[in-house]
Amino acid sequence: MQIYGLPALETNYFWLLQPDPKSSDAYIFDPGDAAPVLAALKQRELTLAGIVLTHHHWDHTDGIDELLEHHQVPVYGPHSTRIPQVTQPLAEGDTLELGGTQWRILATPGHTLDHIVYYRPDAKPNGVLIAGDTLFAGGCGRMFEGDPERFQQSLDKLAQLPANTTLYCSHEYTVANLVFAQAVEPENPDIAARLNSARKKREQHQPTVPSTIALELATNPFLRCTQAPVVASASEYSGCSQDSAADVFAVLRRWKDGF
Ligand SMILES: [Zn+2]
Repeated sequence: MQIYGLPALETNYFWLLQPDPKSSDAYIFDPGDAAPVLAALKQRELTLAGIVLTHHHWDHTDGIDELLEHHQVPVYGPHSTRIPQVTQPLAEGDTLELGGTQWRILATPGHTLDHIVYYRPDAKPNGVLIAGDTLFAGGCGRMFEGDPERFQQSLDKLAQLPANTTLYCSHEYTVANLVFAQAVEPENPDIAARLNSARKKREQHQPTVPSTIALELATNPFLRCTQAPVVASASEYSGCSQDSAADVFAVLRRWKDGF
């Protein structure tokens, strides 16, 4: 299995999956624009076999119609009236087969209520998670529709995947996310090291993703809502103490929105 990152729009990555190197079949995750997808298919001599979606936002879906004009393929995505092109709706607990690879569907409401992610536990050498805008390298999506309890539960679900799982997220926000992470945890050496490394990569126009669940557990404040330094920073920022991980998450999300 190969996964190619297509940088697109301002900050997006569209992930192009080739399940079997012996087949030219490929699947595109979250095509917010058709042009880079068509170019990558041509360049790599691949044939589009399906479109796979995490949620309804335009920068994940605007390329669908043009791709369907060129390739009549199934469209997999959440049950959502806001993505009329979906031909095969998916929900928590479903399994999706893409060219011989099996993907588990996890519902992760929070960024939007219709958000789902795709997890392949038996990928070699490590499991793979396509996380859309739920979990980012060093951060998480904005809370457009969910509530803190639901979003925090969704992140908790991803935090419990095996630590060596490779995380593919939809945006190059890592440096800004880690600057915020460092404001929350100034004494965390893993955050400092990761920020340094991410800045170097961006200076060389290299992507900072994919990441791993292990790296996120060590450096992503939104997965660290029960860690003492994060709890302390949240209560200092908000001026009151928080009783639960969801309350800490709510403070962090509000803090980051204005950061
Ligand atoms: Zn989004």
